[in-house]
This record gives sequence, C-alpha cells and structure tokens, in this order.
Amino acid sequence: MTDSENPTTQSPSPAPRSVLVTGGSRGIGRAIAEAFLANGDHVAVTSRKGGAPEGALDLVCDITDPAAVEEAYAAAEAAHGPVEVLVANAGITKDTLVLRMSEEDFTSVIDTNLTASFRLAKRASKGMLRLRRGRIIFISSVVGLMGNPGQVNYAASKAGLVGMARSLARELGSRGITANVVAPGFVDTEMTAVLTEEQQKAITDRVPLGRYASPDEVASAVTWLADAGYVTGAVIPVDGGLGMGH
Ligand code: NDP
Repeated sequence: MTDSENPTTQSPSPAPRSVLVTGGSRGIGRAIAEAFLANGDHVAVTSRKGGAPEGALDLVCDITDPAAVEEAYAAAEAAHGPVEVLVANAGITKDTLVLRMSEEDFTSVIDTNLTASFRLAKRASKGMLRLRRGRIIFISSVVGLMGNPGQVNYAASKAGLVGMARSLARELGSRGITANVVAPGFVDTEMTAVLTEEQQKAITDRVPLGRYASPDEVASAVTWLADAGYVTGAVIPVDGGLGMGH
C-alpha cells in the first residue's frame, strides 16, 4: 500500500488548514494562533471577552457552556470548513491550600480545564472522523505531572488531560487522528504575572534553563505536533528542564 492510499500514514494536509484555538485572545493561546496564521492556516479563536489576533476569526464563547461551544464550532466550520486542528488551550487557576479549597474552587477549575476540553475534543472528533485526519492538542502543565502545593484542583485537571489524550489516541488513531499534550513549565503570561517576585525567583531557581518560557516557545511545540504524522499519545514538555522530560 502506498502512502497516499493509506489515510493513517498520510502526511498532514498543507496550509490552509482549519484551526480552532481556545483561549487565543492572550498569552500562550494568542501566540499559538499567531503561529498558525503565519503558516497560512485559517484560524478561529475563542475566549469569553473576545480579542483574537488580526486575521483570525474572533469567537466569543465560554467553553464551560455546551451551547456556546456548539455555536462557536459551527461558526468556525462555516467560515473555514471542518476543523482539522483543535488546540484546547483555555485554562484557569484558583490556587489555594487544600484545607482552604472550596468545592467551587475545585469544580470550576475542572469544568474549564478538563470537562470543557472533553466537550471540545468530542465535537472535534465528529468532523475529523469524516475527514479521516485530525490533530487534537491539549495544553496541560508540568504541574499536572509533578504536582504543586496550592494547586490540587489545577494539577488534577492538567493530569486528566494526559489520560484523555492517550485514550483518544487509542480510540481515534486508526482514522488518522492524533491526540497529544504539550506540558509547559512556567510561561511569561498574565496567568503567572500574579505571582510575587519571591515566588517567581523560587520557580526560576528550580528551572535548569533559569528563566520562564516565552509564549512563542510553547507555540512552536504545538505547530510541530500539528505537522507530525506519526506522534500520538505523547506529552511534550516545554519547561526549561523543570520536569526532566516528564
Ligand atoms: P491566560 O490567563 O493569559 O489566558 C487564558 C486564555 O483562556 C484567555 O484567552 C482567556 O480569555 C481564555 N479563557 C479562560 N477561561 C475561559 C473560558 N471559560 N472560556 C473561554 N475562554 C477562556 O493564560 P495562559 O496563556 O498563561 O495559559 C494558557 C494555557 O496554558 C492554560 O491552559 C494554562 O493552564 C496553561 N499553562 C500556562 C502556564 C503559564 O505559566 N502561563 C504554564 C503551564 C500551562 P477570557 O478571559 O476572555 O475568557
């Protein structure tokens, strides 16, 4: 069988691909959207407040609301065709020590970071199964693999994405669909800007490369995964060595 006859070994289709990035209005998601735009892809971006980079379709959508996700997905498909690359990036933190962590602190982080990622991946897989190709990429965190005091909720949500990606990889692989995880370390965005200088120094002291990542450095791992035809179920660390490959 030649490569062109076998959909499971086909290289990804060339740009323009239809790409959907959640949480693409700022930080890591924005850098990811910009990297796909620079590649010539058609990009739709979701966020609650709106504000996509120039050239992207700006969709206001709270990913915790199933009807809003369906509406945003339909709008992306109407504009750009079936989504071939889904980047589930939107995420939140609600840090506090376990004894002070309320049920609401826990479930709201799980709802946004994990349940909404399931909702998006499920919706994406419909079109990808028809296309017989697709890329599902979850943005997790080094914290999901290593744990972190004050982040029981966040770490649980990010660890959950690894099991989700690996199960999707097994379920959908025979149809040419890959599911992978990018696990950034600490990245210079609004999410980490809330940390005190002392907390930031304590982090960089533990990072072999001695600094935070730039959002672009995370984006380049994502675009690489979108091009990779034979990588699935993988966790790609972009953490300056903090997790030593985990
Ligand atoms: P930011 O807080 O800078 O941006 C988060 C993005 O997600 C925004 O576009 C925000 O837009 C959107 N968002 C948040 N909640 C929702 C929601 N319910 N529905 C739709 N959009 C939402 O975060 P970062 O760029 O720092 O982080 C991006 C991802 O990377 C997250 O999943 C985070 O956990 C992960 N990560 C970040 C690290 C870091 O050091 N910064 C390290 C490791 C992982 P709006 O507010 O308008 O909804």
